[in-house]
Amino acid sequence: MWNRIYQFMKVREDQPELNRAIFTSLGNMIPLMYAMVSVNMIALAWTHWSVAPRWLTLTLPIFFTVITFLRSVKFHKHRNTYFSDEEIRKQLQITVFMSGPISAMFMLWEFSLLNYSTGLMQGQVMFFAGVTAFGTAFCLIHLRQAAIIMMMSTIPPTAIFLALYFNQPVHIAVAINMLVVGALAVFIIRGVNNDFAALIAQQTLHGEQKEKLQRLNHDNLKLANTDALTGLPNRRSFYHALDQYICEATETDSQLVVILLDLDGFKPVNDVFGHPAGDALLQAVSERLQSRLGDSGLLSRLGGDEFGILLTDPGTDDEVLALCRELSETLRQPFRLKEGVANIAGTIGIARYPESGRSRGQLFDRADYALCYSKQHSKGEPIFFSEDHEKAIREYATLEQRLREANLENELYMVFQPIMDTRRDKVMAFEALARWQSPTLGNVSAEAFIRSAEQAGLIANMSGVLLDKALAAAMHWPADVCLSFNLSAVNLSSSASVRDILRRVDRSGFSPSRIIFEITESAVMRDFDRVIEALNLIRSTGARIALDDFGTGFSSLSYVQKLPLDRIKVDRSFVQGIDNNLATRKIVETIAILCRNIGIGCIVEGVETSRQMDLVHRMGLTEIQGYFFSKPLDEEEALKFVQSHNSDDDIAWLSA
Ligand code: C2E
Ligand code: CA
Ligand code: CA
Repeated sequence: MWNRIYQFMKVREDQPELNRAIFTSLGNMIPLMYAMVSVNMIALAWTHWSVAPRWLTLTLPIFFTVITFLRSVKFHKHRNTYFSDEEIRKQLQITVFMSGPISAMFMLWEFSLLNYSTGLMQGQVMFFAGVTAFGTAFCLIHLRQAAIIMMMSTIPPTAIFLALYFNQPVHIAVAINMLVVGALAVFIIRGVNNDFAALIAQQTLHGEQKEKLQRLNHDNLKLANTDALTGLPNRRSFYHALDQYICEATETDSQLVVILLDLDGFKPVNDVFGHPAGDALLQAVSERLQSRLGDSGLLSRLGGDEFGILLTDPGTDDEVLALCRELSETLRQPFRLKEGVANIAGTIGIARYPESGRSRGQLFDRADYALCYSKQHSKGEPIFFSEDHEKAIREYATLEQRLREANLENELYMVFQPIMDTRRDKVMAFEALARWQSPTLGNVSAEAFIRSAEQAGLIANMSGVLLDKALAAAMHWPADVCLSFNLSAVNLSSSASVRDILRRVDRSGFSPSRIIFEITESAVMRDFDRVIEALNLIRSTGARIALDDFGTGFSSLSYVQKLPLDRIKVDRSFVQGIDNNLATRKIVETIAILCRNIGIGCIVEGVETSRQMDLVHRMGLTEIQGYFFSKPLDEEEALKFVQSHNSDDDIAWLSA
């Protein structure tokens, strides 16, 4: 029984939101309630002034009024104070515990007054008791326990007192009235309370959902700005930071450096060892970069194997270059992965604010330009965007424009460089090399306009025109002389473009078995699977494939083995170093052995001197191209060249 009473009176700890709402509501209602009680008291004391003693009509009312006034002030102050959940619960519990004694005190005061009142005054006391009980209960309505205690400690005793003390039908009827209305009031209090609790619960839930949503938003934002694989900021975050740093640098008139780093040799690792190995490598790379950088720069992964670094306190150009060299060096140390050892490197392009650009786009593009420049011209050496680059960009833009306007059919032509079979001392093939005689720019280097055509999306069309011209010239060669034709990555990027090439071969009537298509590693690296598909399609016609510029990229042995190749062309940079650099000589030797072991041919290009020729020969390499034999020749010269070298094949080429 006591336990049940205690449980009923206890303010629950497991609903802090509801407690807080009740507390707020009481903060508003309790001062009003005390004001009402005080007014009622004063009214009652006033009517009994002449009949009752002073301690009942003056001392006690003043005492009550002071206490209630002080409590009202306290509650009013609470409105602006923050309380913990526990403090609130305690305050409410005190209110609950106090509600019984306070109402009992009122009751005793009323009953004491009844001793002195007569007739109408007794009615007033009864009226006061009822109205005050209901009034206070409704003021405390949200604190269910207090409201019910208030009702229970006033209404039944008053009713019983009325019925027993007066024992008159009128008083008994009033007592019954009071009990019925009191019971109804308790019932209403409970209902209102349940509704109030439900409302708060709903609001709390809503609040929790809001918080959850906010948390989710925060997580999403973090996710949207983080690279999932490495945990580094991603491209979006990098751009955002760059924008911010530019603003700060503009305001404070300070410097800022944008570094772009692109991995060399990442793709073969991905292709050969598989994607998990590629992922592990990227993680290891980001760890190495991060540990070298520390707090000195903001490292981000921009996507794929591209990283960005922002330095807000960059120091001199030399200091930045030194840092970049260190970063390259850390990447050059072998990565030991589960699947094997990966050897990669990094190419770095750098742009400085405000010298290289003032906007995000400018700085990024220029660092990217420096990176591309470094890739092509100075392998491994970090490069700052410079005025020369600016000039080159302008020239390049002009070149691209002219190329777009060019009449490719008229302005392009082919030259042919013999590839000799030194065992037979005969021309084994001619490599067709493109030339562009621009009416405005004059002769443009093949490397420059091919790259420009690739970037401007003109290469597919250009390759078609060039192939037709090469095939037309090759029709006049002896039957044992092949045509070696260079393909760009774009030519292999879709089966439609491969079919276009094959259709042209077919239309020319030239036997596909006499064609060698030269592809570069960079083409293969773009999309390994698709390129293999394209190469198989080409080989199914009888045409052959040579891997051009071998050794300049990051081809590994296993990489080469996976490609359907017939030949490798050792890059001319190796031949240039062959006479005075032992390491280079060893590399060429190794390539020669590799080709022999996997049963594919090996062409050495760029042989210029008899000494180089000798050295290459000693390695057992016999398919040779280079200025030592001939520079690229025009169509007529090529024909004369082949006639003088392959003379006993006259019959064959006449009938070809
Ligand atoms: P590549 O395929 O490696 O072509 C060989 C380049 O080396 C040619 O330069 C050639 O003239 C040059 N070369 C040959 N022998 C020697 C030598 O002994 N010493 C030196 N120093 N150089 C030698 P070219 O004609 O300027 O071509 C440059 C690059 O342009 C080619 O490199 C190739 O990647 C590209 N290219 C040329 N024609 C075509 C084409 O029709 N289609 C495509 N897609 N690319 C082409
Ligand atoms: Ca070539
Ligand atoms: Ca080459």
